[in-house]
Amino acid sequence: MLNMLKLKVDLLIKGVRGNLKLLRHGGGGPVGGVSLKIKDFVVNAPYIQRFAKLSPYEVVRVNDKDKLLKNGKMIADVFLPKEPKYYKLHIDGIEMRKIVALDGINTLVTSVLRRCSHKRKCAFCSLERGKGYVEEKKPEQIAEVVRLAVEEDKSRSLVITTGTPSTPDKGALLIARVIKAVKEVVNVPIQVQIEPPEKLEFIDTLYYAGADAISLNVETFDLKIRHKVVPEKPSIEKYIKCLKYSSELFDKNVSSWILVGLGESFESVIEGSLKLCEIGVIPFIVPYRPNNGRRSCNSKYLMKIYARAAEIMKSYGIKPEGVAGCIKCQACSAISEAFKIIDNYQTEDL
Ligand code: SF4
Repeated sequence: MLNMLKLKVDLLIKGVRGNLKLLRHGGGGPVGGVSLKIKDFVVNAPYIQRFAKLSPYEVVRVNDKDKLLKNGKMIADVFLPKEPKYYKLHIDGIEMRKIVALDGINTLVTSVLRRCSHKRKCAFCSLERGKGYVEEKKPEQIAEVVRLAVEEDKSRSLVITTGTPSTPDKGALLIARVIKAVKEVVNVPIQVQIEPPEKLEFIDTLYYAGADAISLNVETFDLKIRHKVVPEKPSIEKYIKCLKYSSELFDKNVSSWILVGLGESFESVIEGSLKLCEIGVIPFIVPYRPNNGRRSCNSKYLMKIYARAAEIMKSYGIKPEGVAGCIKCQACSAISEAFKIIDNYQTEDL
């Protein structure tokens, strides 16, 4: 298991080479990666970035089977998700893949608005990058694509994100309309990811519309870099208040992304994880994925963070799992692999 954690962390940081196909081209979260299932974990590894072209890892096809090589030596069998059948279909003249994409192995993702009212953008954001994307999706369009996608594979869950509009609900009302439209046609677990709205009642709106899980992403707890990383996002205190409130409604299905590799201190990630665990929230720790250029951090640093955060989670009884979305998928974070091994190893061993 320790080797699995090391392998996942290494793939998250260094990426993978091969003749592979991207299933998601843009939107929220880390983009430009490919998802692989190796033994019992799923990883979304950088693929199109320049640093990934130098990765020691490569996927090759041998006798109709996909294999993972490290420095030319076979180390594991891999499973690559196939392009979904619905990708070939259109709705209102738009390719369905542009309405809802497949990420990880079985997670459907959609960004309702691919525009954001913040003038100074977050350092990691790809929402308005790329060409040919749909700037605003209609709830009925999303519902129909999700219906077909779930008909194809019943294990799929859905993540709904949005660029932040300037209204006090920060997009919650729009997302609530999407949730209702989807739940009317198909029973699929849904995670929403949104900026904290100005009033807590908008969290209720999402819950009563039928959301099953929520993620309000602090992104960084390091005040020294916060103004550069998320210049226009609310304060950490506001996030904590909304997360605490969300925990009362969504129980264990509340999480918050913490990005690593943006110049933050080790302590800020650990203290932030502790703060989240104290209020029953899963710290979903993910290495920042630069669009190009260099890797964001090294594997050893990330391993240390995961090991310490997993210890904290264990001590608070917080499990890195959930019913829908990123906390179910886990492809962008190795927190669940760290959690599984932490009883058998000391933090210093990792
Ligand atoms: S963890 Fe979330 S962002 Fe990452 S691949 Fe899975 S669904 Fe996509």
